[in-house]
Amino acid sequence: MPLLVMKFGGTSVANLDRIRRAAKRIGVEVAKGYDVIVIVSAMSGKTNELVGWVDETSPLYDAREYDAVVSSGENITAGLMALTLQEMDVPARSWQGWQVPLMTTSAHSQARIEEIPTDNLNQKFGEGMKVAVVAGFQGISPEGRITTLGRGGSDTTAVAFAAAFGAERCDIYTDVDGVYTTDPRICEKARKLDRISFEEMLELASLGAKVLQTRSVELAMRYKVKLRVLSSFEEQSDEAGTLVCDEEDIMESNVVAGVAYSRDEAKMTVVSVADRPGIASIIFTALSDAGVNVDMIVQNISDEGRTDMTFSCPTDQVARAEQALLAIKDAGELNYAELVADQDVCKVSVVGIGMRSQSGVAAKMFKILSDEGINIKVITTSEIKISVLVDRKYMELAVQALHDAFELDKAA
Ligand code: ADP
Ligand code: ASP
Ligand code: MG
Repeated sequence: MPLLVMKFGGTSVANLDRIRRAAKRIGVEVAKGYDVIVIVSAMSGKTNELVGWVDETSPLYDAREYDAVVSSGENITAGLMALTLQEMDVPARSWQGWQVPLMTTSAHSQARIEEIPTDNLNQKFGEGMKVAVVAGFQGISPEGRITTLGRGGSDTTAVAFAAAFGAERCDIYTDVDGVYTTDPRICEKARKLDRISFEEMLELASLGAKVLQTRSVELAMRYKVKLRVLSSFEEQSDEAGTLVCDEEDIMESNVVAGVAYSRDEAKMTVVSVADRPGIASIIFTALSDAGVNVDMIVQNISDEGRTDMTFSCPTDQVARAEQALLAIKDAGELNYAELVADQDVCKVSVVGIGMRSQSGVAAKMFKILSDEGINIKVITTSEIKISVLVDRKYMELAVQALHDAFELDKAA
């Protein structure tokens, strides 16, 4: 039997009406002759509420219990979706991660999928079940504890199932009708793309475009999963939405494919450290051991043997970074004058595989920002992206100005 994976995000299952609407959409595919694996998120707002409760218990909570609490939102939706399908006479059954079992690493709150055995679900499909509804975002560690896959992780659950079961397609149903040139919520001229390459989608996702979790794109690219993003609010044809595909399958594309932003960035500076071999290693080993995800790094100009080291990390990791750097100072491993944290910054990036062959994109980006009076605090580049850290109050302005100047509202 041909098989599809259909994933419904939080807003698409926000209440029973929306669950019914999604169930009808699933029924259409079953009627076409597909077996379907449905991956569901928690109802919108639920995961944030659960995370809030955990945060309230303690700032340095036990990540195993965080996962026990935060994974529970998906369990409710999975059961409700199975019940709704059964009411429509579609044979359906729900599965929590551990029942599959979706095996992950033990990195609680950021676990990676290791293996998805297919026997349990396939046996049920063999017995006439048409839809397996699986709770997204969660799995089980080698120690037998519940894990979660990081925020937005249901996308990754969906792609991993599509790869494991050799699904014909993995459809990600969400609250926008595809991948846009930038977030349509902050730029009204954002244009929906019919296709986007895996490489560009990977960069956009990792730079903040939360329409797909980064890891889901990585998996789709590695296992050649046919990945599509589309709206759960509109009637859909087989051509709807955005197809994430190989670069070779895209005829024409702009030099810059999209603009991404990440709101919750912090810039930290370790002021006046010795400018000698080993210092960067001491700083970034301590941060890595403390689980801080360092992104951009700049070493400032040296003056009389001293220098400043600047890096960026997510705002919710600032306390952990400060603690780690203070600990190595107290232990006499690193001497510095002070630690300065600027929490009012954001990261804005332009992405495009066309940059590999066309120079001048960085110069143009900096000119656009300077024309808007936006000061750039840190810059990083790779082959297909340029990122800058700017004051958070300029975020929308920067995204819109770049979108306009690179003419992303027009197709190539
Ligand atoms: P879901 O709950 O369905 O997983 P998410 O909120 O995680 O949905 O992701 C969808 C959101 O991603 C959209 O509502 C949109 O605001 C945001 N987004 C950011 N960048 C983009 C982009 N380039 N294209 C489409 N949506 C984007
Ligand atoms: N519910 C989880 C979250 O909000 C996972 C997901 O929706 O993908 O992050
Ligand atoms: Mg999401």
